[in-house]
Amino acid sequence: MAYDPNNIFARILRGEIPCRKVYEDDFALAFHDINPKAPVHVLVIPKAPYVSLDDFTREAPAELIAGFVRAVGAVARQLGLEDKGYRLLSNIGRDGGQEVPHLHVHLFGGRTLGRMIPDAD
Ligand code: AMP
Repeated sequence: MAYDPNNIFARILRGEIPCRKVYEDDFALAFHDINPKAPVHVLVIPKAPYVSLDDFTREAPAELIAGFVRAVGAVARQLGLEDKGYRLLSNIGRDGGQEVPHLHVHLFGGRTLGRMIPDAD
């Protein structure tokens, strides 16, 4: 899938749409999810055009991959979650339920999060 430069997270990166920013460095931007599923629900995105983790792990330079993963950890520590813990999730493609085609990692925390994934119907 080709990267769509008009996806909503690309527009947030360009400053065309506001976000509730949590963290920013050279590699990543983190902001609160507009429809939170936990007391803490933050999205961490790379500052580069990758559709998903599949695309990112095939194409991205090592420096960006390292910087992005470090940023995810830094966001969690900035939010004070490292002791109690938290959950990371990245939806990829159709079966993953990905809605926004710019790589993002969901960071959930602030309560006991329960089962990892609901049972199938
Ligand atoms: P996914 O299904 O993994 O693609 O998740 C996309 C996430 O982006 C959802 O949790 C949405 O609530 C969130 N979202 C969509 N638009 C915005 C926005 N403008 N600001 C913050 N979060 C958003």
